[in-house]
Amino acid sequence: MPPVINPDLCIKCDRCVNICTEDVFFGSKKHETPVVTYPRECVHFNGCVDVCPVPGAIWLRYPMPSMIVYRTSSDYEAPPG
Ligand code: SF4
Repeated sequence: MPPVINPDLCIKCDRCVNICTEDVFFGSKKHETPVVTYPRECVHFNGCVDVCPVPGAIWLRYPMPSMIVYRTSSDYEAPPG
């Protein structure tokens, strides 16, 4: 599922638009809150969330099958030793 943007937190920096490798944000205007034009194009690589400087301004809704196996790096423990 597509990224979701909180327009109240978004500072309109365009970083998410620029990092997206697909046409998810197609047609978004510079320095305006990005629009999710083609949500089905999202490949969930999380780049838009990673580059966003404002916590909570953007997040991804993962498809249900992906949620079963999805883990963040903080879910993993460092190997012993
Ligand atoms: S990276 Fe974050 S703050 Fe910048 S335009 Fe995208 S959602 Fe808004």
